[in-house]
Amino acid sequence: MATLTRDQFIRILNGMNIELPLDTKFEPKKLQQRLHKALDAAQRFRTIFPNNAVNPANYPLWKPRRPLYPVFQRNMKPGSHWATDPRGEMSTSEMPLPRDPVVEPEIVFNKVVDTIDDISEDWDTESRHLSIMLRDCDSSRAVFVRVFSVHEIDVDTPLMFLGYMVIERLEQRDYDEILAGYLEPGEAMLMYFLKTIEQDMFLQLLSLNLKHISPTAQPPRQAQNPRFQLSFFMPITKIAQPDVARLAKNTGCVVCGRNTTGKCMTCLAVQYCGKDCQRKHWKAHKNLCRPTEPSRDPQPTLAKDAAS
Ligand SMILES: [Zn+2]
Ligand SMILES: [Zn+2]
Repeated sequence: MATLTRDQFIRILNGMNIELPLDTKFEPKKLQQRLHKALDAAQRFRTIFPNNAVNPANYPLWKPRRPLYPVFQRNMKPGSHWATDPRGEMSTSEMPLPRDPVVEPEIVFNKVVDTIDDISEDWDTESRHLSIMLRDCDSSRAVFVRVFSVHEIDVDTPLMFLGYMVIERLEQRDYDEILAGYLEPGEAMLMYFLKTIEQDMFLQLLSLNLKHISPTAQPPRQAQNPRFQLSFFMPITKIAQPDVARLAKNTGCVVCGRNTTGKCMTCLAVQYCGKDCQRKHWKAHKNLCRPTEPSRDPQPTLAKDAAS
């Protein structure tokens, strides 16, 4: 699976109100963990599923006449830093935009949330049969999503149970295979045009929720294809402030990105994993290091974190 760069991870998190400095030395793997925690906070996963494992079959189907879109859409409460897509609202005739400018990572989360809201609306209007191709005109990679069913976790929480597959080189025969193998007679496949980075972010969410699916969960019989990976969508909310604070904390040692054990005792502004990194950094840091108390002379002394 193509993955996001360090810079993209940080800027996507910044777009979710999780403000990490761009020079954070975290490895991409650690940034991915941080992103997954942020996504779990945004879909309130731990609150709704304290036992972690999701088996959609344990929940009733969403009521046939109750529209899904208003429930998905009302959960969006823009935050102060909520980035908007400069492309704005587009009519169908204007899409796709194969030559549109590079997507700023800060708006990618917003785009994913908007797309999930749109998918919930499609579920309402397409008589609850839904197959979607997330693709882009200038990239050959695409993500195929089939929504199997929608379940009522509680009265305000629907869950779209789905299968997805990544198609690395989209060709006509992939459409033919999907049309022949997955779609019900007469069912249409809807197309969403998403840039590569937006697809990457979708795959982050899908692969996170794949891990939340219980090993006992089964796809419906007609969709038991080995290429499908099981996952789901739930309504996405603004991340609660305590979670924002928790997720923006601990940005790692400024030199190596490892967990910190203390900070510069003179200025209390820079965090390190230990004395070695602090010594390495001193040559650069000493010009910026200002004592919090005027009586202290700048020197490379490590103040230990109380918590560690
Ligand atoms: Zn270090
Ligand atoms: Zn200092």
